[in-house]
Amino acid sequence: MSILNTRRIQLLSPRLSNQIAAGEVVERPASVIKELLENAVDAGATNIEIDIERGGVKLIRVRDNGCGITKDDLALALSRHATSKIVELDDLEAVKTLGFRGEALASISSVARLVLSSNTEEKGQGWQVRAAGRDMEAEVTPTAHLQGTTVEVQDLFFNTPARRKFLRTEKTEFNRIEDVVKRLALTHFDINFTVKHNGRVVHAYRTAATQAEKERRVAQVCGPAFMENALAIEMEASGLRLWGWVALPTFSRSQADLQYFYVNGRAIRDKVVTHAVRQAYADVLYHGRHPAYVLNLELDAATVDVNVHPTKHEVRFRDSRLVHDFLYRSLHRALADVRPGNAAPPTSNASSNESGLASERMLQPSNSGLASTSAAEADTLRNQTALNLSQSPSPTVTQVRENMGVYQALHPSSHSRDEHSVQVASSADNSAFIPPLGYAIAQLKGIYVLAENEQGLVLVDMHAAHERITYERMKQSLAEQGIATQPLLVPQSIAVSQKEADCADEHAETFKQLGFELERAGPESLLVRQIPIMLDRSNVEQLVRDVLADLVEHGTSQRIAEHMNEILGTMACHGSVRANRKLTIPEMNALLRDMEETERSGQCNHGRPTWTALSINELDKLFMRGQ
Ligand code: ADP
Ligand code: MG
Repeated sequence: MSILNTRRIQLLSPRLSNQIAAGEVVERPASVIKELLENAVDAGATNIEIDIERGGVKLIRVRDNGCGITKDDLALALSRHATSKIVELDDLEAVKTLGFRGEALASISSVARLVLSSNTEEKGQGWQVRAAGRDMEAEVTPTAHLQGTTVEVQDLFFNTPARRKFLRTEKTEFNRIEDVVKRLALTHFDINFTVKHNGRVVHAYRTAATQAEKERRVAQVCGPAFMENALAIEMEASGLRLWGWVALPTFSRSQADLQYFYVNGRAIRDKVVTHAVRQAYADVLYHGRHPAYVLNLELDAATVDVNVHPTKHEVRFRDSRLVHDFLYRSLHRALADVRPGNAAPPTSNASSNESGLASERMLQPSNSGLASTSAAEADTLRNQTALNLSQSPSPTVTQVRENMGVYQALHPSSHSRDEHSVQVASSADNSAFIPPLGYAIAQLKGIYVLAENEQGLVLVDMHAAHERITYERMKQSLAEQGIATQPLLVPQSIAVSQKEADCADEHAETFKQLGFELERAGPESLLVRQIPIMLDRSNVEQLVRDVLADLVEHGTSQRIAEHMNEILGTMACHGSVRANRKLTIPEMNALLRDMEETERSGQCNHGRPTWTALSINELDKLFMRGQ
């Protein structure tokens, strides 16, 4: 009946069992590179040279100056389940090396011709071993080799034609190899990486010790535009450390292709991490776009399990809630601090060619629009300019106070203006001080505010900027005054799974803080008794369900807060100065000062930039001055 009946059980030959293991870890040339580079990193190398021929199918050679392998261990290194990195289970629970499974060299040598050469001493000769034959016994011979190790892998998949068929073009395979090297180069700054393809050096990443050197390397790997639009991050709390770079929301991508995340030096993909990062960008990212980042998380090795997957791309955090909160808070804070004065203008030429969003805002001499302004408007503009020039560069204290007054009259809801004006006034006392966004000169087409600062021209999208300011204020007052709630006349019942219902019980306090009162009505049903007033027109059932799904999955949820923010956003949009509304110069100046004070004011609520700048140099270039 079954073919099993006709066959006897046999032990697999070492080569065949290695080939089966290779099925998991050796998928293509890039996976070989990954394993070899990780071994070199684990060996403490400071210099790694990579030689590739024909996309890695013909040859992959990795040479390092690490600790090397002793003559006696060489043959062992090629056998399966042989590793120097862990000895017992306890070691596995706090493993600090990238490798520990002792499978890579055995697997690779079962599907390619592998030569391993090494020397553990600075002087003297080295030893070499090749894997050969069905039983894969190895023969050790002398060879000339400096301290360190060289692994040469030729003719990958020569004996497994099925695998070979899955390989793509030489160029594609090489691109994947490059990706692997880049991923390591973005976190191991203390190692020199050189990559040659078909005899030509294509990448050389020099060791980087200082922040500036590191940023140069990041720019080399991720492109200069990323670095120009990135914020450096460094935070530490509760035994967790986060460092690296995140791109401003305006430098978002259409693909999630510029996202590097490392846990203790290991590149990983993780749902908790992705979720936390997305949350942090939630308020500032244009819909459907992906953030870009290079981030390192360092934490006690014992609190993260890396033995989850053979390729070790996944990890499991012992306390994923803590990790999620730490990431979310750190990044959220860093992004909130982006405002004029402590960051580059959110749009630069470099970012615009990628995002396509920013380019709309680029000022071109051909469409500056001034030429088509009507005579009357031009007059007003000129008058306003004249008025402003007489104030420039430093308005007096009374003028600033007046400005604030006008703006307050326009927006009676403005909070704590007094403190604000005192601050501005005292800065204005200092005659050398020009605020980051400068002083308003004019309003263009009822849409843009033109201002002059120390560097040159500043352009502000009036509506977008005001919308963000109103929105941030509404959020703040919500945070300060708490959430107004209302009981439901007819409590709404929601059918959920038992797990979700338990979860609702467990997080009753969380729901309460957000203005919800949930009651368990049965094993698989909940009653909603009270909701926030703001949400009375929302689909409460859907919201509660989604929140529970989040809580079950991540132990935390931002959905209610997000949904409220969305509503606030809509309200803010309606409450903000519309295009085509004439603003006076003092009103415009007040708007600029507000932007400087407001968190996240570099982007409007939809993630579009609110302002941009053109320095005198850039203007000179437009007019070919001094060329
Ligand atoms: P693992 O890395 O999981 O230990 P590998 O099969 O990749 O397993 O390597 C087996 C062993 O060979 C390692 O534990 C290490 O002792 C040794 N080894 C491999 N590559 C190197 C290298 N480049 N430098 C020093 N030792 C190496
Ligand atoms: Mg290894």
